[in-house]
Amino acid sequence: MATAPTLEEPAPAIDADEERAFIEAIDRWMEREVIPVIRHHDHGDIWPAELVDQMAELGLFGATIGQNYGGLGLPAATYAKIVARISSYWMAITGIFNSHLIMAAAIERFGTEGQKEQWLPRLATGEIRGGLALTEPNAGTDLQAIRTTARRDGDHYVLNGTKTWISNAINGHCFALLAKTDPDASPRYKGMSLFIADKREGLTVGKKFDKLGYKAIDSAELVMEDYRLPADQLIGEEEGKGFYQATGGLELGRINVAARGVGLAEGALRLASDYAQTRETMGKPIAEHQAIQLKLGDMATRAHAARLLTLDAAQAYDRGERCDMEAGMAKYFASEAAVENSSEAMRVFGGYSYSKEYDIERFYRDSMLMCIGEGTNEMQRIIIAKQHLKRNPA
Ligand SMILES: Cc1cc2nc3c(=O)[nH]c(=O)nc-3n(C[C@H](O)[C@H](O)[C@H](O)COP(=O)(O)OP(=O)(O)OC[C@H]3O[C@@H](n4cnc5c(N)ncnc54)[C@H](O)[C@@H]3O)c2cc1C
Repeated sequence: MATAPTLEEPAPAIDADEERAFIEAIDRWMEREVIPVIRHHDHGDIWPAELVDQMAELGLFGATIGQNYGGLGLPAATYAKIVARISSYWMAITGIFNSHLIMAAAIERFGTEGQKEQWLPRLATGEIRGGLALTEPNAGTDLQAIRTTARRDGDHYVLNGTKTWISNAINGHCFALLAKTDPDASPRYKGMSLFIADKREGLTVGKKFDKLGYKAIDSAELVMEDYRLPADQLIGEEEGKGFYQATGGLELGRINVAARGVGLAEGALRLASDYAQTRETMGKPIAEHQAIQLKLGDMATRAHAARLLTLDAAQAYDRGERCDMEAGMAKYFASEAAVENSSEAMRVFGGYSYSKEYDIERFYRDSMLMCIGEGTNEMQRIIIAKQHLKRNPA
C-alpha cells in the first residue's frame, strides 16, 4: 500500500497510463470549471468554494496521502506534474491543497499510528482541510526564533502566541503548528515541537492580509490565547522533534513551489507565444521580429530546465532519498524562471500587459511569491552551497 515515502519504503511507481488519465481529468476540470472563473475569483479576491468541492471530488486533497489512509498515494513526481499543469493557468488555487498536503505528509511521516488513523482519512477526502503554521511576526526564515510556547498541563498543552501569513487560516480547519515546548533549550531547535492544531476555543483568526497577488486563497494570522490542545495532538507524541518534522515537510513543500514555478513559467510562455503570433507590427507578427524571438527562446529554455530540475527532485523524494539540495535547486531555479518569464511576457504584450483584461498581469503578480515561500531563494542558495560543499570535500 502506498504511504509517504521513506528510505525504507519508497513511493510506488505509477503506471504511465494511469498518470496520463489523471492529468487528462485535471485538464478537463480546468477547461470546464476553472478557467472560465479565474478572473472573477482573482480580481474579487473571492474564495472559490465550488471549486474546492470539486477539488475534493477529484481527490486532490488526498493526492499524496497513502492509499491505506484513503488518499491517492501519488508519487511526488506525478503530483508535481499536476501542480505545474494547474499553475500554468492559475497558481493560487494550488495553495488550497498544497500546504494541506504538507501537513498531511508531516502526520504520515512522523505521527503515531493513532494520529494517522484519526486525521489522515478526513484530510484525504477534504472533509477537513489543513495548513502549515510556522511563521510568526518576528520569525520567518529564522524559525528557531519563534515565540509561541506550548506548556504541558496534565493531559493537555496550553499554547500562547501568534502565527502570521498562514495560508488557509480562515477557511482551513487544522494546522501543523510549530511551538516551543522548551523555550530555554540549547540549541534552540531541540525545544521545538509540532502540533496538530484544530480550530477550537483559544485559537482565533486575526488580521487577513490584502495581497499583491495569490488572490482568492486566504492568508491571515492565527492567534493562540490559552489554547488547550490534547497532548495526543503533539505529532509523534514526543517533544523536541518539531523543527526536524517541520523542515522535513518543507522538502515536499519546495518541490511543490518548484512545480508552481514551472507552471507559471510555462503559462507565461504560452500566453506570450500566442500573443506574439497574432499581434502585428511593421506588417508582420511580432513573433517574426528577432528581439521577440530572443525572449521566447530564453523563456522556453528556462521553463524546460525548471521542469527537469523539479522532476529530478521529485523523483529523489519518491525514492526516499535526502533531497534538500535537489529540492532547493528546483525551487530556486523554477521560481526565478517564473518571475523572469512573467516579466518578459509582460514586455511581449506591450501596453496590453498592463490591462486586467489580459491574464499576463496575474502571472506577474503571482510569480514573486514563489521566490519567498517555503524558504526564500537567498536561503535556498545557502542550503545548496552547504550541501554541495558537504558532498564535495576538498
Ligand atoms: C502569501 C504568503 C503565504 C504564506 N503562507 C505561509 C504559510 O502557509 N505558513 C507559514 O508558516 N508561512 C507562510 N508564509 C510566510 C513565508 O514562509 C515567510 O514570509 C518566509 O519564510 C520569509 O520569512 P519573512 O517574511 O519573515 O522574511 P525574513 O526572514 O525577515 O527575511 C527577510 C529577507 O532577509 C533574508 N534573510 C533572512 N535571513 C537570512 C540569512 N540567514 N542569510 C541570508 N539572507 C537572509 C531573506 O532571504 C529575505 O530576503 C507565507 C508568506 C506569504 C507572503
